[in-house]
Amino acid sequence: MNTLSIKYLISGGIITNYFCTSSCRHCLYNSSPHWPKEYMDAATAERALETCRRLGYKSVHIGGGEPFLNFERLKEVLVVARKTGVSIEYVETNSSWYTSKARAVSMLWELNDLGLKTLLVSASLFHLEYIPFKKVTGVVSACREVGIYPFIWTEAFLLTKTVRMSKCKFSICAELVPYFYLYFVGFVKKIHIPLSKFTLSIPNYPNAKTAFSSL
Ligand code: SF4
Repeated sequence: MNTLSIKYLISGGIITNYFCTSSCRHCLYNSSPHWPKEYMDAATAERALETCRRLGYKSVHIGGGEPFLNFERLKEVLVVARKTGVSIEYVETNSSWYTSKARAVSMLWELNDLGLKTLLVSASLFHLEYIPFKKVTGVVSACREVGIYPFIWTEAFLLTKTVRMSKCKFSICAELVPYFYLYFVGFVKKIHIPLSKFTLSIPNYPNAKTAFSSL
């Protein structure tokens, strides 16, 4: 039997948990609220981070699931990272935990004190099916106040002030048309959901089909 052995790492991430508030259609890990509410403990985090270091990788990112769903455990992982000498490039979030600017700022200060310098804030049509956009902009604004860099994935979404979404009905601004086409329409075709299931409403592009065909 052949054994695959990893001799070194060039990039890596740690998944603290698979449960999530959302069930995004594109989710790589099929995360959702249906997963058990299990979260990586400090001992497991230490083993994972020491393995990363042994294999040559000195920094990792933290993702999930939604890592903020157990804030105390998330802080423990950051403490362990500091102890093992592995830096955290960023923590990912879908912003579901945002309830007010004051609370978000206070939580982000705690993470900042533990060494977090960048927060990846998810922003896409798929995420918007579950997360109100004002939570996303609220977290971005809180990051800026604390001095944590908000790595908005993807930033194109902040181009619009009018993005709204309900199940299977989208309304987006003109700047997002190319992005929408590449990211969304291409993906929907790939996963074989008929485009006829969606209603498109694009300001300045009264005929969405014409807009897409001109790209
Ligand atoms: S928010 Fe992220 S982890 Fe959660 S379901 Fe969506 S893509 Fe997956």
